Amino acid sequence: MSHNQDWLARSRAAVWHPCTQMKRHETLPLIPIASADGMYLTDFDGNRYLDGVSSWWVNLFGHGHPAIKQAIKHQLDSLEHVMLAGFTHKPVVELSERLGRLSGLGHAFYGSDGASATEIALKMSFHYWQNVGEPGKRRFVSLEGSYHGETVGALAVTDVPLFSDTYAPLLKTGLRVPSPDARHAAGGESAADVARRAAAALENLLAKHHGEIAALIVEPLVQGAAGMVMYDPQYLTLARELCDRYQVHLIADEIAVGFGRTGALFACEQAGIKPDFLCLSKGITGGFLPLSCVLTTDDVYAAFYDDDVTRGFLHSHSYTGNALACAAALAVLDLFEQEDVISANRDKAERFTTLLQPVAAHPAVRHFRHVGMIWAFDVDTARGDFAQAFFAGMLARGCLLRPIGKTVYLMPPYIIDDTQMQLLTEAVLAELDRLAGGDGGSASPALP
Ligand SMILES: *Cc1c(COP(=O)(O)O)cnc(C)c1O
Repeated sequence: MSHNQDWLARSRAAVWHPCTQMKRHETLPLIPIASADGMYLTDFDGNRYLDGVSSWWVNLFGHGHPAIKQAIKHQLDSLEHVMLAGFTHKPVVELSERLGRLSGLGHAFYGSDGASATEIALKMSFHYWQNVGEPGKRRFVSLEGSYHGETVGALAVTDVPLFSDTYAPLLKTGLRVPSPDARHAAGGESAADVARRAAAALENLLAKHHGEIAALIVEPLVQGAAGMVMYDPQYLTLARELCDRYQVHLIADEIAVGFGRTGALFACEQAGIKPDFLCLSKGITGGFLPLSCVLTTDDVYAAFYDDDVTRGFLHSHSYTGNALACAAALAVLDLFEQEDVISANRDKAERFTTLLQPVAAHPAVRHFRHVGMIWAFDVDTARGDFAQAFFAGMLARGCLLRPIGKTVYLMPPYIIDDTQMQLLTEAVLAELDRLAGGDGGSASPALP
């Protein structure tokens, strides 16, 4: 037995893996990873895989970045953790101040993962309206194809039937409005036209139901789990105006797109807007430690500030504001400042887009799209098992890309170099040639 086989047998016996029908691992083996460095993961048999999806979008600067590692080691010497109720500490104060300056939202509440940030934003919005004497405002609006996490509250504003249908009886499902998905453009329409059309539908809904709506929650510019659905920033600008007009909060879930992924530090900047709640996680610690954060306004904060305990936000997680995680997040912000990541990424993205032109022109490729450091396209194939076959084929070529259904996307760490871009491009082209236009295969639903 190879080392790999030993670990994967033990993992299958003892570990219940996320987003997985475990029985599939009878035929599709797990990859036990022994170590990771920079762009590469290495398994127990010494095979290397180029991480083209930043390990589910979290490892912004690749694996084992020395500056983030050092910041965590340094923090370890003084304080690893203290409860944040009744106590505070240097990394959490500094991180909150810096995120406040960067976002214009000066009050930071922490959780441990993305879904808990969504829960916090939803509960805060609901509670705000209670506190200001509008208890009827208690429903949430989300976009078609939205994804905001998989806890019971977050799942209610998530529109991925594969994840939510089974649990429907548990969910207080919210209202849905059309996605401004640029692929919906009819003949002659621009992405901005689609955005205006979707905003008109939002306006109809808000005009009728604003008295019962607490908030609109959106993934700014890119609906990730829906398959890297991209849309025009104008939708956000219009949504902000409508939320103001109808007294509805705007929650920006930048868990996937925050920290430079769309070409600006926060995607909302590209629409020139500020949300009432900004949810951050995933890349916030560069993939080192779990941390999430909800940033909000003075107005929201003030509505909770009172002599009455129950008007306060009585919500907590044990690891709220963990000192090691905050130290990692501060190191990530340092990297953005010291290395001018946003403008370096702009040049990098331009080169990668040029390299990917043969992919865009491939006969099986539809809707090639790109924003910032995300590239995606849909594949015209009859194969029901396209996602698994492509994933497995790419692994055999030493690359990690995991399509969502028939959408292939690249979301590489920002440290990717030109040779690695070339390697990914060639592997994608070879896999498209191997798979696209194939003859069916077994149908199975898409997992991100
Ligand atoms: C990943 C993600 C979440 C959920 O984050 P978890 O850490 O997986 O709970 C929420 N919203 C968006 C947009 C995401 O991409």
